[in-house]
Amino acid sequence: MGMDPRHAILFEPVRIGPKTLPNRFYQVPHASGFGSARPRAQAAFRGIKAEGGWGGVCVEYAAVSADSDEIPAISADLWDDADGRALALTAAAVHAHGALAGLELFHGGAASANGSSRGVRLAPSQRGSQAQWGGLAAEMTADDITRVRRDWVTAARRAADAGFDIVYVYGAHGYLMTQFISPVTNRRTDGYGGSLANRGRFWLETLAAVRDAVGDRCAIATRMSAHGRRGLPGIETDEMLRLVAMASDLVDLFDLTVGSWPEDSGSSRFYPEGHQSDWTHRFREATSKPIVAVGRYTSPDVMARVVASGAVDLIGSARQAIADPFLPAKVRAGRLDEIRECTGSNLCILREETFNQIGCAQNATAGEEYRRGWHPELLPAATNSGQPVLIVGAGPAGLECAVTLGRRGFGQVHLVEAEPEIGGRLAWIRRLPTLGDWGRIVDYRAVQLARLPGVEVLTGRRLTAAEIVDYGAPIVVLATGSTWRGDGAQPGHPDPMPGADPAVPWVLTPEQVAAGVRPPGPRVVVYDADGYFMGSALADLLAREGSRVTIVTTFPVLSPVSDETLEGEALREHVHRAGIDVVHATTVTAIQAVPGGPVTLTGTDRYAEAWSAVCDGVVLVTMQSSNDALHAELTADRGALAAAGISLYRIGDALAPRLISEAIFDGHRLAREIDGPDPAVPAPYRRERAGR
Ligand code: ADP
Repeated sequence: MGMDPRHAILFEPVRIGPKTLPNRFYQVPHASGFGSARPRAQAAFRGIKAEGGWGGVCVEYAAVSADSDEIPAISADLWDDADGRALALTAAAVHAHGALAGLELFHGGAASANGSSRGVRLAPSQRGSQAQWGGLAAEMTADDITRVRRDWVTAARRAADAGFDIVYVYGAHGYLMTQFISPVTNRRTDGYGGSLANRGRFWLETLAAVRDAVGDRCAIATRMSAHGRRGLPGIETDEMLRLVAMASDLVDLFDLTVGSWPEDSGSSRFYPEGHQSDWTHRFREATSKPIVAVGRYTSPDVMARVVASGAVDLIGSARQAIADPFLPAKVRAGRLDEIRECTGSNLCILREETFNQIGCAQNATAGEEYRRGWHPELLPAATNSGQPVLIVGAGPAGLECAVTLGRRGFGQVHLVEAEPEIGGRLAWIRRLPTLGDWGRIVDYRAVQLARLPGVEVLTGRRLTAAEIVDYGAPIVVLATGSTWRGDGAQPGHPDPMPGADPAVPWVLTPEQVAAGVRPPGPRVVVYDADGYFMGSALADLLAREGSRVTIVTTFPVLSPVSDETLEGEALREHVHRAGIDVVHATTVTAIQAVPGGPVTLTGTDRYAEAWSAVCDGVVLVTMQSSNDALHAELTADRGALAAAGISLYRIGDALAPRLISEAIFDGHRLAREIDGPDPAVPAPYRRERAGR
């Protein structure tokens, strides 16, 4: 099958200054956790996107000088020639597949932590410090401005020498250039403060200096923030349009984003595809230079329409390029049903920001290209692919394991699921408010399974331990998932909570609510000791149906995990607008009620004082526990397993309830290593160390 002619527009080359992009697919700069410190991981991670057809591939933000140090976050640094040599590996990896390599040179100013360097943070004005960890930033002198501009030029030369085709003067997302542009953070009275031209001067001068230095060798890009719904303090779209017009002659490629990062990378729960376009698409008014903007676009039809509209020249992508590095190649070949669509869960951001190791809910290989040698599309044939395999449970872990084994050439894989529908927990989570796009995890795998002749899916069949032993499969994978506890046990309080009994109508588990069970009256407490999406999603569902919902949470803020996925602010606004009350830092320790009467919750507040509330029913989002009964039963008689010649493995939530990205990873990891010496234990992975 060939390319749909409507998508041909996406494969047109685009000239940017002295360079030409081979097509309109552009992986915008985004963090990975690799920086310059893990250059081989960086190179492999970016190179795979070039291999998959992205015409422009960028490294994350790269600091031009040591007084912009992001520790504990990892940026790329381009402070010296050694950094340049490290990043040159990425330029080479990208070039190997005919794409252009971009480096987003930046200075964080007051937003840089400087935790490691101990350098003073720099800012246009002292009052403009944004990150005030233990102190303010220093107001930049004229010498500082000259020096940072010089550092930028030096870094740009290094980038060009390292082979990069596109160098950035990063002006977005609250970093130093934005701090100069905003009158809220720039209170200067010299030539770098006051009027728009003055506030933009540092950015324009730096663009001009970088252009003078490397403009014949590299395309000059800049990243700017349009206002967006939440905006950046003091920066209005009309002013930015005027600045873009002023910069137009200096720039070969405008990379446009909105507002702050949490809005720009808004999750699918709270931001629709293309939500940035109301702002970013206005920039065409100000420049005829090539424009790239993101939109979490996953459909080539939409991408082609956006380009055809003339508002942008390139489809910018971070998250979709992580979920499927081979999207362009699949579009070109007309293999649209093989595209792994981004879920917009932002677990990539959680992984790279929190753990400095990017990952993905859809693509288990993201970030594993170098250290585990995993390729997203090419899977080596397994040496034991002739053996029958039984996978018990078709949740994310079981599904991913089955698909990966099928792609490795296994010819007799049975994926057996107790429920009538595949998907495991996602089968019901995807039906909760705001969580529909997470269903793409199941949909993608359902399509792949249907085309893998070696994998058979059997639904509506709950296997017992005896049936598993007798099944005839020498490889058995338990992917039986986990269940929310109904007994009220919670972190820090491991014993059952008095009165917590899901058999009474006023105590409900998430699964019961998802199945349509409702408390006996309208006043509902959702008790959240979990801290991620489940509590708020169930509260949202019940509030939409007319319940008067209060979330009582053990955490000082609602859903702290959502801050790691950049969703916290939007989630709290959403909950507030839904009319849901929130009680923070409160632990429920007992439930008392009599049939037909009110339900009293008692516990302690944030000061360890007695706390109580009255309601008609409580939903317990306290803790999950692994469905490990089958495993316990099977391993109780190791002799019987051995006699049956069975190797038994456990993956996903059945092992320990975790993020969905980790269940996918688990399923993939086992299938990748199923012909290794000890598949139960992850094989060692390559680490980048001195002397290697
Ligand atoms: P994970 O995220 O680890 O994949 P899930 O909880 O999403 O876990 O999915 C586990 C799936 O396993 C559920 O769909 C559940 O119905 C299924 N399952 C559990 N026990 C059995 C069993 N004995 N036989 C078949 N399927 C089972």
